[in-house]
Formats: sequence, structure tokens, C-alpha cells
Amino acid sequence: MRLLAQGKRIVVFDDPQNNSSSAKAAGLFNPITGKLLTRTWMADKVFPELMHFYRSMEDWLGSRFFYPQPIYRPFISVEEQNEWMGLSVQVNMKNYIEQVFTTSTYGHQVHDPYGGILVKGGYLDVNSFIDSIRNHLMSLQAYQLAVFEESELKIDESYVQYHQYKAAKIILCTGTSILNSRSFGGVPIRPLKGETISIQLGEQPELIFNRGVYVVPWGSLFKVGATYEARNLSDTITQEGRQELEQKLIELMKISYQVEEQDWGFRPTTPDRRPIMGYYPELKNVVIFNGLGTKGVSLAPYFSAQLANWLSGGGEFQPDVNISRFKSLFSKS
Ligand SMILES: Cc1cc2nc3c(=O)[nH]c(=O)nc-3n(C[C@H](O)[C@H](O)[C@H](O)COP(=O)(O)OP(=O)(O)OC[C@H]3O[C@@H](n4cnc5c(N)ncnc54)[C@H](O)[C@@H]3O)c2cc1C
Repeated sequence: MRLLAQGKRIVVFDDPQNNSSSAKAAGLFNPITGKLLTRTWMADKVFPELMHFYRSMEDWLGSRFFYPQPIYRPFISVEEQNEWMGLSVQVNMKNYIEQVFTTSTYGHQVHDPYGGILVKGGYLDVNSFIDSIRNHLMSLQAYQLAVFEESELKIDESYVQYHQYKAAKIILCTGTSILNSRSFGGVPIRPLKGETISIQLGEQPELIFNRGVYVVPWGSLFKVGATYEARNLSDTITQEGRQELEQKLIELMKISYQVEEQDWGFRPTTPDRRPIMGYYPELKNVVIFNGLGTKGVSLAPYFSAQLANWLSGGGEFQPDVNISRFKSLFSKS
């Protein structure tokens, strides 16, 4: 969509796998995350950009998939409550916090004896977003529902060719599938498995609740997630995953629930938790865009803008996302 906005001609080859990371993402964007509850990396740039981008996509595509709304995180102790009272008035935090409650406020739905914070976040209905884009690309005859066979890609000095399509460049944004690539190996993507459950709730939650797990609307159900599993990478759901999620759900929420589905996906993470962008070593027309990790919804708008700008000659992107930081990949070739 960034390239179309620049007036470029594109064609997308996509074989939407059932368990692609995007298809399984709850779509949450939350500027204050992690165990230490700090602002997420580059929040001051990434959040204004995502707010603007998804709204403009809704206008452009004429459909609805972006739901900014507060996320409620209950406190678990008086100490945490005190800490947040202090943090919430700091200039760099103020923009992201809607309100701090020091007494139970949503106690009829969650366990919040010490109150909690309302963070300015929300969620993207990722599947609707992708469906809208797919339909738009189809209407432009710019979409091929097909496996891209890289063995059939011809790379010349000044162009690439795939079947009847000749183009200046190809962008590989294939998530964890890049690990199976024979021609473009070595990109240091580390799959991080995530399991989720989808539940029916006894009553409508007033907000997105998030502590240990999140509870986010998912069609007529709610999605509860997610686990983080870097070692056991079986491509299936597990009993342990379900137990962990239900345990955390019970600790968070008081509303009765019924599990309807369980699901899994692999997030494309990187060793330093930063995206990976730039030319594949020694190929000036093969571009990698990957490593969106656990936060694709927040990071993609900002970094796709940097990528599109760079591709059209608008300058370099920031070094900490440049693929060239992985020296081993470059020295090998
Ligand atoms: C359980 C779970 C929950 C998550 N929750 C969140 C969340 O709440 N918020 C958030 O920001 N992020 C979340 N994420 C992370 C998020 O999903 C990723 O950051 C993001 O979706 C990565 O997008 P991507 O396009 O790089 O990769 P992918 O979504 O994996 O997309 C790659 C696509 O390329 C296609 N492809 C690959 N090879 C080929 C080929 N040869 N030919 C044709 N097509 C091909 C695949 O089919 C796939 O559709 C979650 C992830 C998981 C697994």
C-alpha cells in the first residue's frame, strides 16, 4: 500500500498459510509493555504513525478494521500502584496513559483490588485488514494467490523476472518461511511460537483487559493470548499452552468463559528484537522486510514507510534495522 501510494506498479504473490503469524495475531497495539512496563521501543514515532496509517487505510479501502481503545491493566500490589502514580505524571509517559485508578474500578469483571492503569492502545482486526488489502489488490490485478517459487526467479543486474513479470525489485516479506529458503538463506529469523485460545464470554467486557494475557475481540468470540515458546516448536496446539492461558485468564478475569478454539502461530523474531530491512547480500534488487516479531501491528506502518521511502531514493533508513548489521550473513557471501 505504501508503494501504491507512491504511484508504483506492484504485484503481490501470496499463499496465505493457515498459520501465518498475521492470521493468528490478536492485533493488539500497546505502547507500554514488557515485564518492566516501559514504553515500547520507538513508541514516540511508531504510535503516531500507526494511528495515522490504519485510519488512512480505512478511508482508502472503505472498510473498518482499526479499533483504538483503552487497555486496562490491573495492579497486583500497592507498590506497583505507587510506582505508577509516579510514572504517570512523567512527561514521556503521560501521552500513553489515560487514567490511573487507585481503587478497584472494574472489579465486577476483573481482579483489580488495587486499581489499575488505562493505557492508550487498541487492536487491529488483522484478518479484515489483510482481506481488504487483498480485495483491493485483486481489483487492480496486482495480486496472485499462489506459492512464489523462488527457483523460478531470474535475477539480473538491473531487473528481476518471475514468469511474465519483470520488475526493478522484489521484496521478500515471507515471515518465518524465509527459513526454508534455498536461495536467500541465512537471514537470522527466530521463530517464536505463540498459542492462543478463543473464548465465549458470559458477558461483554467493558474494555480490553491485559495482565498476563490479553482478552481481545475476535469476531463473535474473544481471543486470549499468547504464550511465548522458543524451544518447543511443534506445529500444533498443546495441552501446556492451553493450561497456561486458562490459568492466567482465571487470575485476570472474573467473567465466566467457555473455550471454543485453540490456535498457534510462529512470530518472526530476530536476535536483537529489531526488524530486518535492506538488500540481501550482494543483490541490489532483492529486498528483505522481515523480523516484525511480536509487534508487527505497531512496527509495520512506521518501517514500511521507511522502506518505501528508501526504495524511491529518499535516503537511508535507521542503522539498527539494517540487514547489514548481521555481519556473518554478509561476510559469508
Ligand atoms: C499467536 C500470535 C499472536 C500475536 N499477537 C500479536 C499482537 O497482538 N500484536 C502484534 O502487533 N503482533 C502480534 N503477533 C505478531 C505478528 O503476527 C507479526 O509481527 C506479524 O504478523 C508478522 O507479519 P509478516 O507479514 O512479517 O509475516 P507473516 O504474517 O508470517 O506473513 C508472511 C506471509 O508470506 C506468505 N509466504 C511465505 N512464503 C511464501 C511463498 N513462497 N509464496 C507465497 N507466499 C508466501 C505466508 O503465507 C504469509 O502469508 C502475534 C503473533 C502470533 C503468532
